[in-house]
Amino acid sequence: MIIFGTKGYLYQLAILTLVCARCGNPSAHALRKRVTKFTLFFVPLFPVSTKYATQCTYCGAEQQVTREQAERFQAQEAGRG
Ligand SMILES: [Zn+2]
Repeated sequence: MIIFGTKGYLYQLAILTLVCARCGNPSAHALRKRVTKFTLFFVPLFPVSTKYATQCTYCGAEQQVTREQAERFQAQEAGRG
């Protein structure tokens, strides 16, 4: 019998200061990467999907961003300091 499934992993990449699209506050946003991995016998083998999102720490609104946007945010963050 073969047991397979998926497992989700959440990585926090950076903390960004952005103006929130929902509450309009220039607040800290967590930039997160969510990776879903295919597992076989509970062993994660390879990622089947990778998604990026920012979450406002003020109101909790989550917004999906593309990989390009996520990379740009990280580059900006690195350049700042
Ligand atoms: Zn907000």
